[in-house]
Amino acid sequence: MSAFFVNQLDFIFFFYGLAFILLGTTCWAIARSKGHGQAWAALGVFAFVHGAGEWLDLAALIVGDGTTFAVIRVMLMTVSFVLLLDFARLEAIRLGLNLPGRWIYVPSMLLVALVGVAGGVTAANVAARYAIAFPGALGASLVLAWGTRTLSAGARYAGISASLGFLLYAIAAGAIVPAAPFWPANIVNYGWFVSLTGAPIQLFRGLLACWISFSVWAIWVQQLAGQLRSARYTAFVRQQFVWTVVAMGTILVSGWTLTEFLGGIYRRDVQEESRRDIDLLASRLSVETATVDAMVKALAGFPSIQPWLTGGGRPDNNAAQSFLDLGVHASGARRGYILDMAGAVVASSDPRDILPAKPSYGTELYFRQSMGGKGGYQFVFDAGAGVRDYYASQPVHTADGKIVGVAVLTKSLDTFEADMREFNRPYFFIDPQGVVMMTNYPEALRRTLWPLPTTAKSPLSRPFGKQVDPPMLEHEVVDGTWATVDNERQYVRRRFADHSQWSLVILKPTREIFATRFLGIVITLLVTIMALIYLVGKGRWIHDDVLADNRIRLQELTHDLGMKAATDPLTGLHNRLNLDQALAREMERSQHYGTPLSLILYDIDHFKRVNDTYGHLAGDKVLIQLSRFVPNLIRTTDFLARWGGEEFIILAPGSGGPMAFQAAEKLRDAVGQVVFEDVGAVTCSFGVTQWVPGETAAEFIARADEALYQAKANGRNQVVLAPQSGAINVEAH
Ligand code: GH3
Ligand code: MG
Ligand code: MG
Repeated sequence: MSAFFVNQLDFIFFFYGLAFILLGTTCWAIARSKGHGQAWAALGVFAFVHGAGEWLDLAALIVGDGTTFAVIRVMLMTVSFVLLLDFARLEAIRLGLNLPGRWIYVPSMLLVALVGVAGGVTAANVAARYAIAFPGALGASLVLAWGTRTLSAGARYAGISASLGFLLYAIAAGAIVPAAPFWPANIVNYGWFVSLTGAPIQLFRGLLACWISFSVWAIWVQQLAGQLRSARYTAFVRQQFVWTVVAMGTILVSGWTLTEFLGGIYRRDVQEESRRDIDLLASRLSVETATVDAMVKALAGFPSIQPWLTGGGRPDNNAAQSFLDLGVHASGARRGYILDMAGAVVASSDPRDILPAKPSYGTELYFRQSMGGKGGYQFVFDAGAGVRDYYASQPVHTADGKIVGVAVLTKSLDTFEADMREFNRPYFFIDPQGVVMMTNYPEALRRTLWPLPTTAKSPLSRPFGKQVDPPMLEHEVVDGTWATVDNERQYVRRRFADHSQWSLVILKPTREIFATRFLGIVITLLVTIMALIYLVGKGRWIHDDVLADNRIRLQELTHDLGMKAATDPLTGLHNRLNLDQALAREMERSQHYGTPLSLILYDIDHFKRVNDTYGHLAGDKVLIQLSRFVPNLIRTTDFLARWGGEEFIILAPGSGGPMAFQAAEKLRDAVGQVVFEDVGAVTCSFGVTQWVPGETAAEFIARADEALYQAKANGRNQVVLAPQSGAINVEAH
């Protein structure tokens, strides 16, 4: 996997978890709103648990992992997948399939547990994915696809999208698994996926989680819109969906940029600190080697040394020997010696070097380098003899510049090693092949830090330089790089020792880098929460507003309908329905308070003739004009209604018969004065009655009708007051 994605794993886990936690919230909302909420509740809990699991993975990345922690996470993950499977099972049952009960999960979970006991956490993880996650996600995909049949058009697309999301998730989470030593996990695994795509599977799972989350949310939103049946709400909901997708995308991208930025600051700090550390180590090593380097130069140039090599007499032998001894002493060297052109020791600060047999160093690198006319520098480590030495050599020249031998000083690096043991981080002192010769990290000693190049089988490679399998690092480090060492991101820094192919390497563990990035993640989370509160709050507000709107409209409609039912469409007066209510009310009031109640029934005289002469429309106009005119002449407490055709009733609470008679007379007179449009003068006849307690409304009106009849019979355009009892002489008709 590219280093880029390795560094982004924390953010990937974050948004993967976030997407599923949001999915959980949506599923809960759906579960609460639906009759068959159990399945969606299961899906909601799956999403919550799985999302939380992803955040625990994030925690493991930050605070470090452990076996117990890993076991808990795999258990949590298994439980979440069981819930996913349960969603599929419950929905399938609802859709009519005949499926077994929850006991079906027991064997699968036992299988996972058994594999875990036998093969470890990773094997259990793989088993849970194959046995539960794959069928669970596939089942969810199928039931969602099947369930779209009952959804509205808009929700159907969302349902199909969610179904497709789960289908891909079945592959990403249920088929592409951690590497395990059995088929097919040994082939189709995370490593395989990375080599195929260059990105970690978690990235794709996270994107799928977002996809599924938004699709399910779209189903929910479409459902809400369907329930309200408001064009305004539907438009809003669609718009809000787009806004939310845009807002979440923007927040995640800017959150990631911030996280990268914060991590970058820390990363640069680490790099800078490592550079200072390695410079410090290198200068500490220089202290050891520099004095020897300088002293061997002085030694080679000392005139008395030369006669040893050229054999030209030995007058200065003692002086040369004491200069050699002094050089060794002053530079803290282990010993010093002079080699002839074949590499044989001709003089030494240690007599054992010459007696009994003179050893030869003709093959040593430093010797060959100095015979070539340069300074020779070499580290010689011998594990068997416990020797860690530094060799510095210089050619010895004659006066005319001919090389006649080599002066050598050798110094033990034991002090340096003792000092370095105190260094609080892993360091490695490696030979040109990358074999660790000195370290405070015992497992790495005499192993290579990175794979040896195949061309490295030179005589220089030490017989004990075996490879750590696999080597600690993937590639040779030249300068500084980020690498995964022991499953942890570390900064690796290398620096070559003075004039040599040997180098120092240090590691800086960088768990803190996640802590810094974590700040960016937390800020992203907070902004997400705020944005969601705003968006959900606004959605809620619009939802309630639309509901209230609908209610008001409904009230208005009811009111209109009530008005239509209670008024006469032509004249706008109360109709019979309202009159009946008013009559009942006023009769009760009259009964209760003992106040009089009278009724005036009037009818237009010879109206048929008006119609016949001027037309029906002119007749209508007379009815309308009369209806507008009469209310001005009666009391506000009086109740005027169209009784039917060209007959009207005035209910006069508080008026006795004679008073009502007066009122009717006034009205009759006034109507007689009015000039009606098109028609001219029109008269009315009036029947007046006072209510007799105990009398029904029908009897009350019937007596008025009789009085009216009387008025008509008497020649029209007059008022007749009915007697208190049914004493109108029927015979008089
Ligand atoms: P009178 O009451 O004086 O005995 O004579 P009339 O001609 O008014 O008698 P009648 O009650 O028989 O006729 C009533 C007429 O009123 C019959 C009908 O054509 C007319 N009429 C009833 N309702 C309406 C209406 O809404 N518009 C119009 N233009 N005419 C109506
Ligand atoms: Mg009439
Ligand atoms: Mg009539």
